[in-house]
Amino acid sequence: MTLGQAPLRTRVGKRLRRIIERPASVELTRYEKLLPAVAARDEALRDRSDEDLTRAAQALRGGAFGTEALVEFCALGREAGSRALGERAFDVQLLGVMGLLSQHVVQMATGEGKTLVGALAASGFALQGKRVHVISVNDYLARRDAEWMRPVFDLLGVSVDWVEPATTHAERKAAYDRDVTYGAVSEVGFDVLRDRLVTKADDRVMAPPEVAIVDEADSVLVDEARVPLVMAGSVDAGVADEEVAKIVRRLRLGLHYETDADGKNAWLTPAGASVVEKALGGVDLYEESGTERLASVNVALHAHALLTRDVDYLVRDGKVQLINASRGRVAELQRWPDGLQSAVEAKEQLPPSDRGEVLDSITVQALLARYPVVAGMTGTAVAVAETLREFYRLEVAVIPPNTPNIRVDEPDRIFASPSQKLRAIVAEIRRVHEQGRPILVGTQDVAESEELAEKLTKAGLTCTVLNARNDAEEAEIIAEAGRPGTITVSTQMAGRGTDIKLGGSSMTEREKAIELGGLYVIGTARYPSSRLDDQLRGRAGRQGDPGGSVFFASVEDDLVQAGAPDVPEMAGEEDGEISDPAALRHLDHAQRVVEGANLEIHRNTWRYTRLIERQRADLLEFRDRVLLTDVAAELLGAEATLAQATLAQACREIVLFHLDQLWSDHLAFLADVRESIHLRALGKETPIDEFHRAAIPEFHKIIEEAKERAVATFADAEATGDGVDLAVAGVLRPTSTWTYLVHDNPFDSDAEQALKKIRGTLRKKRR
Ligand code: ADP
Ligand code: MG
Repeated sequence: MTLGQAPLRTRVGKRLRRIIERPASVELTRYEKLLPAVAARDEALRDRSDEDLTRAAQALRGGAFGTEALVEFCALGREAGSRALGERAFDVQLLGVMGLLSQHVVQMATGEGKTLVGALAASGFALQGKRVHVISVNDYLARRDAEWMRPVFDLLGVSVDWVEPATTHAERKAAYDRDVTYGAVSEVGFDVLRDRLVTKADDRVMAPPEVAIVDEADSVLVDEARVPLVMAGSVDAGVADEEVAKIVRRLRLGLHYETDADGKNAWLTPAGASVVEKALGGVDLYEESGTERLASVNVALHAHALLTRDVDYLVRDGKVQLINASRGRVAELQRWPDGLQSAVEAKEQLPPSDRGEVLDSITVQALLARYPVVAGMTGTAVAVAETLREFYRLEVAVIPPNTPNIRVDEPDRIFASPSQKLRAIVAEIRRVHEQGRPILVGTQDVAESEELAEKLTKAGLTCTVLNARNDAEEAEIIAEAGRPGTITVSTQMAGRGTDIKLGGSSMTEREKAIELGGLYVIGTARYPSSRLDDQLRGRAGRQGDPGGSVFFASVEDDLVQAGAPDVPEMAGEEDGEISDPAALRHLDHAQRVVEGANLEIHRNTWRYTRLIERQRADLLEFRDRVLLTDVAAELLGAEATLAQATLAQACREIVLFHLDQLWSDHLAFLADVRESIHLRALGKETPIDEFHRAAIPEFHKIIEEAKERAVATFADAEATGDGVDLAVAGVLRPTSTWTYLVHDNPFDSDAEQALKKIRGTLRKKRR
C-alpha cells in the first residue's frame, strides 16, 4: 500500500468502477474448490500425535504458500482448533481464513467465530515468514483473544503474545519479537510513536511492520480512521521560571553577562554567576546538582539579553507573539521552542501558556498504511466496500453464515417527538419483558443510556446499564444479556466483541430463551450509518438462533436534524406515531446525507494527513540515519577527544533533540495553518492547496535548521570527565510524555461544513 497520489489511470478506473457498480464482494469459488481436499486431509490428521501436528505445521515454514501448502495448513489449523479448544473450524471459517490470507476484508456475521479465523490466518502468515499484528478495538479484547487462542498457536508451533498499557518496556520488546502479537489499535499506535522518539536504536520495541489483521475492521479502518493518536511531552525544568526571570532581569550586560557580536549567544560572567547563585539561595550552578537550574538560567538569560520586545516579539492580549524578522509582520503561527517560549512569558510576567507540546501524532489510517499487508474481519464490511477500496485498496469477501440467519427485523417505528418515542420504547420494553424474552437496548450515548435506565427503573423495570467505561466488566455483563428476563441497556460500542449466548451458560435457560424468540434488540434511534444499525441488530440471531430487532426513531432526532432538517408535514396518530411511508423515506435520506458527510470529512482529513505523513517519512529516513550510524558526529565535526562511542552518542542526542523539537514545532505550525485556513475556507479558495503552499517550504528548512542548531549546541556543550554535559547546552528531552486519542464529536465544525455542502448540492439538484 502506498500513500502516494493515485495515478490518473486508477483514479479514472475508480470512477468507472463506481459507475458500473462492481460487486461489493470478491468471488469465493476458488477457495470453495479447496474445501474437499482440506476435508480429505484432516481425516488423516485426526490420529496423529500433537507433536506430529506441530512438526507438520513447522514443515510449512518458509516462503509463500502454494495451493498444496494452503490445503495442508487449513487441515492442520482445523485440527489444532479442535484439539486445543474443541472448536473444529467450519468450512465457512476456513473460507474466512483463506480470505484473510489473500489480504481481503472478510465479512462474517457476529458469532460466526472470527476470533479463531483471525488466529488461524495469523498463524498462516507467520508460517510464511511474516511478523503479524492482530489489531483489536480495545486492550481487553487483545488480551482475551491472545490468551484464548494461545493453545491453538502452541499446537501449530507459532509464538504469540499481547501488549496492553501495563506492559513494561522489556515485556513489550519480547511481545513484538513473537511471530504474532495482539494489541489494541491505540496501544500499537502509541508504540509506533514512542519508537520514533528513541535516541538509542536498542530502545525501540518494534521491528518494521509486516502484516496487520484487523478485527472489527470497519470500526478501525473507517469509523476511527481519522482519529489521531497523540504523544505529547513536557520539559519540566524543575525551577519556577518566574523566580529565575526576576533574578536575571537585574543582570547587566558587560558586568554580569556577555553576548557575541551577532546577538545569537549570551553567557554569564563569573560575577554574574555568583549573583545568580546567591539569589537562588547559595546553590552551585556548575555542580552536577545545578545543571537543571543552570539550563533554566541560560534560557532566561537568552530571553532577557537577546530578545527584545517590539523587535523580536509583541505582547498582545496577554500573549507573546513572535515577529517574523524576514517578513516584518507578526508571525501568528509560530512559537519558540518550549523552554524559550515560557522564559519570555516569565520575562514579561505573563501567565505561562500550555507547556505540554505534541511531540508526534499519527492517525489510525496512517498507522495501518504502514503495513505492507493488511487484512480485516467484521460483521459489516459490504456497506463500506467502496471506502475500503478508496482508502486502503482492500476488497471485501462475503462469507456466508454457517447456519442461515432467521432473525426477524421489524420495520422502524417513527414518532413525531422524542418524548413520544421514549414513551413508546418504555411501553415496548414492558410488553416484551412481560413475556420473559431477553432484551438488549442500544442507545446513542452514555447519557441517553442513563436517562433511559432511570425511566425504566421508575416504571418498575429492572435493567443493567453498560456505559463504555470498563471493557472487562462489560464483557461479563453482556455475556449474560441473553438470559430470559434480562434487560440490558448499552451504547452501540459497549461490550463489543463479546458473544451473547442465549441463556448465558445454562442449557435449560437457553431452551427457554429460544422458545421466547431469542434476544430482542431495540435501537432507540438510527445511528449515523446504516452499518452501525446493522451491527446492533447483529447482536441477535447469531449462529442460526432465533432473534428479533426493531428501531425507534423520531423526526426530531439528531440524525434528522443534521441530515435533513426540513421535515415535511405528516399526520401522526394520537400517540405521535407516524405511519406515513414518507417518514421512513425521510429518515433513510437523512442517514444517507450524514453518511455522505462523514465520508467527505474522511476524504478531507486524509488529504491533509497524507502530506504530513509523507513529510514525516522523509524526516524519519534522515532520523534513522542519525540513530543508526555515526553521521551525527561527522555533521558536527566532532574531534575524538572522548571515547568514540560516548562522543558519537552525544552528537546523536544533540542532532535528534533538535530534529524532534523542530518536527514538534512543525506539527504545531501545521495545526495552526489548518485552523486559520479553516476560518478562511468559507470563501472559494481551495484550502488544501493553500495548506500545501504553507507546509512544503517550512518542511524543507527543517533538516538544515536542525544541523545548524546542533552545531551551535555542540559548541556550547561541555565535555565532562567521561562524557558530554547535554543539559548545560539545553538539550533537555521531555521528562514526561503521555499519549492520548482525540475522539471528536460527530457533529463538530468539520461535519457542519460538510453537511452544509451536501445539503446545498442536494437542494440545487432538486430545483
Ligand atoms: P465473532 O467474533 O465472529 O463474533 P467469536 O469469535 O466471538 O465470534 O465466537 C463466537 C462463539 O463461537 C464463541 O463462543 C466461540 O467459542 C464459538 N465458536 C467459534 N468457532 C467455533 C467452532 N468451529 N465450533 C464451535 N464453536 C465455535
Ligand atoms: Mg469478534
